[in-house]
Parts: sequence; C-alpha cells; structure tokens
Amino acid sequence: MYQLRGQRVEALSEEHIRRTAMSFCNFFGMKPTKGRNKRYDKSLEKLSSYGITINPVDDAEWSAALHGLISGHYDPQSATISVPEHIYLEACAGDRIALSVVLHEIGHMVLGHQPLMHFSSVPATENEDAEWQADAFAEHALKFLGYDSMQLSFEFY
Ligand SMILES: [Zn+2]
Repeated sequence: MYQLRGQRVEALSEEHIRRTAMSFCNFFGMKPTKGRNKRYDKSLEKLSSYGITINPVDDAEWSAALHGLISGHYDPQSATISVPEHIYLEACAGDRIALSVVLHEIGHMVLGHQPLMHFSSVPATENEDAEWQADAFAEHALKFLGYDSMQLSFEFY
C-alpha cells in the first residue's frame, strides 16, 4: 500500500504534471540553455507580477524557527513561497538542488494544492500525494531546463 508523504489531493498523471512544468517554464522565461551561465532571478521576480510572493528568509532566522528541518514552505492562503535566503540566491544562480527546492514549492502552487479533507476507503496512490506531485513537477522542470536527472528525497513541505 502506498504511504502518503503529504496531503491527499486530486490524482494527476505524471504526463499532466510534466506538461504543466514545461508550460510554467516557458511562461516564466525559464529556457533550456546549455552552458554554465544560467540565471533565474528574472523568472523568479516575474512571479510577483502574478500575485505570487517569494519570501527569502534570513538564514539564521529560518533555522531558529520551526523550519529547522524543512527546506521550503508554500502558503496557499497568501500565495507565498518561503525559502531560506541562501536557497533563493543559489536557485537564482542555477544551483540544481536549490532550484529543486524552489520548483517543488512552485509545484504545490501551480498544481493548486489546498488543504483538503478527503475521506476515502480506497487506499491512496502516489498520484494523489501532494508531495509526490510537487517532486514530479520539480524533476520535470529541471529535466526540461537541461539538468541531469537525480532522485532526491528532502523533507520539505
Ligand atoms: Zn512539498
């Protein structure tokens, strides 16, 4: 039986998530580029034009708060993605791991994850797991952007 890692949400196919990730990258000008000078500042800044806030939190403040164990957070009420400042800066500079954290949180937002009371006698599947969906979104976006595939398991929400 599949063990949910996060909220149970409406099931999405991996193909749907892959297409959504590509549309997101295209829309926000995140293009696949070969070479080392990838910068994503502009794309991430553009999110604010659509009412989405990226909130880089001072690193010391982040680890002092409850957030010590998690790398990122998305609040659907305020459409705010919070990440430690170093993660934001490294993501702007194209660091794969930092980008995967930011894209995972963007995935929660773009895929419309909301806290959901969902009672069902049918066991959950991977495709209904908000965390699996957000990971799949980040992986497909990174693949589209030309990063090597890599399985990472982080504790982020
Ligand atoms: Zn998550």
